[in-house]
Amino acid sequence: MMKGMIAITYSAKHKINYNDWMLNYLNKTDYYNSKFFKCRNPLHNDNKPSMSYNPKRNNVHCFSCGVTYGLIDLIKIDLNCDYKDAIIYIHNELIKDEPLKTHDNARQSPTTNYSKKVEYNYEYLKKRGINANLQMMLNITWDSYRKCIIIPTSSTTATERFVEGEFRYKHIGSIELFKPFYRPKLPSIIVEGEIDAISIYEAMGVKSLSDMRKVKANVIALGSANNWFKLAESDIGNLILALDNDDAGREATIKLSQELLKRGKLFRLVNLYGIYKDANECLMNDREYLIKEVEKCLESG
Ligand SMILES: [Zn+2]
Repeated sequence: MMKGMIAITYSAKHKINYNDWMLNYLNKTDYYNSKFFKCRNPLHNDNKPSMSYNPKRNNVHCFSCGVTYGLIDLIKIDLNCDYKDAIIYIHNELIKDEPLKTHDNARQSPTTNYSKKVEYNYEYLKKRGINANLQMMLNITWDSYRKCIIIPTSSTTATERFVEGEFRYKHIGSIELFKPFYRPKLPSIIVEGEIDAISIYEAMGVKSLSDMRKVKANVIALGSANNWFKLAESDIGNLILALDNDDAGREATIKLSQELLKRGKLFRLVNLYGIYKDANECLMNDREYLIKEVEKCLESG
């Protein structure tokens, strides 16, 4: 079957089969939560929700100002990016959201729900200070049954953060370095957890793809303090080490530093979090402090 010809959403009850990524995209946004939503036209100050999705035409239309947007137009507005970035976004973030089984397979056994609908819920990380756009750009999804957010760390691995109960983290597949939007030319701030890495991007003010393009450093999470060797073995250079301010973090920093020295790699040690344990704790308790420290650290590059 051709890529793109798959059913994005399948519901045995409603018999819906959209051969497009528009609905898939809308479900990722935090404004598409009812039939009518606030118009996305930046020039239209819509005080009652006037825009809706037309599945037949596969576009969104505002019944007040009259604009109609296809998927690319909508992404350009939402993520404040150009045509090329919108295409890249669709390619990287939407096309891979394939359900486990296609509509055709599902039709063979209508009693079984083969579809794995991709779900989004930005509330948990919003409470931890991280804006919805950033979460969307990082393709963070949600499992409503198991109550966890899923942070992809490579095309085959992920870290799950459970939001209820004692059990907090689960790595799916091997523990990989989390390095979204990595660019080799930039220095790299190294943190432990994925949510800490995202918190640093938040502190850098990243709310759109064009913001992401302007950052002065990569942010990379080890995934776990014990995973420091993976970074030492990688060819990532110009490192700014900002692991957790606790025993495990300090221990990992010492081991990592020794290993980097052995390999003749450039690195700096910084404390960006003041009295706090890690980036997210600092972001939640003193956002301005974290913003200033990250800025300072990149200026003194
Ligand atoms: Zn409008």
